[in-house]
Amino acid sequence: MNIEIIKCLTDNYSYLVIDSNKNALVVDPSEAKPIIEIIESKKLNLKFILNTHHHFDHVGGNNDLKNKYSAKILGYKNDKDRIPGIDIFLTDNEIWESGEFKAKIIFIPGHTSGHIAFHFYENKFLFSGDTLFSLGCGRIFEGTYEEMYESLKKLKNLPENTKVYCGHEYTLNNSLFCIEYDSKNINLKNKIFEIEKKLKKKEPTVPTTIKDELACNIFLRAKSIEEFSKLRDLKDNF
Ligand code: ZN
Ligand code: FE
Repeated sequence: MNIEIIKCLTDNYSYLVIDSNKNALVVDPSEAKPIIEIIESKKLNLKFILNTHHHFDHVGGNNDLKNKYSAKILGYKNDKDRIPGIDIFLTDNEIWESGEFKAKIIFIPGHTSGHIAFHFYENKFLFSGDTLFSLGCGRIFEGTYEEMYESLKKLKNLPENTKVYCGHEYTLNNSLFCIEYDSKNINLKNKIFEIEKKLKKKEPTVPTTIKDELACNIFLRAKSIEEFSKLRDLKDNF
């Protein structure tokens, strides 16, 4: 299983997951054009479109891709009225499987009320959308602090060697916030060094890993809901 990282809009990432027969699925297509370019150049068969949540920068390419390739669109069942073109309604904890693709659906509300993550547990990768970022977490738009805290807790408990593919390239700004409030963290300093090297080469800072995030991400390191909420408020005004 191969993953192509595709830059979309200004700072979004969409991902193509490609199996051994050139069948592909795309996670959170912000826009269709850059995805079509890769599908055509690699001669892939796009079978599925997976959405972590309904925001326009994650579903913007849904209908164009669906019409062009007859791909099926998957999203959380309660968001069936706001995910464009949805065909398959997912529920918490279900295993979705087709051919070589196999993912567990993890319901992680907070950023939106219908946010999910896709955990390809056999391949050890996770698509975390706008809930867990490298060195950060999503803004709380529709949920409560409690919901976001509990959602992050679910992701924290995944195997440490899980690769995390998130929805945006926010890592540099996130790192500045983490180091401001966790200035003695050696692991964080080392991670920032690696991040800066990648950015200098114009490479994505994703994927990160659960291990790195446990060691460096201040939101995952918060020891209580109170501490977490305070950090989230500070970050909103950072
Ligand atoms: Zn979003
Ligand atoms: Fe987003």
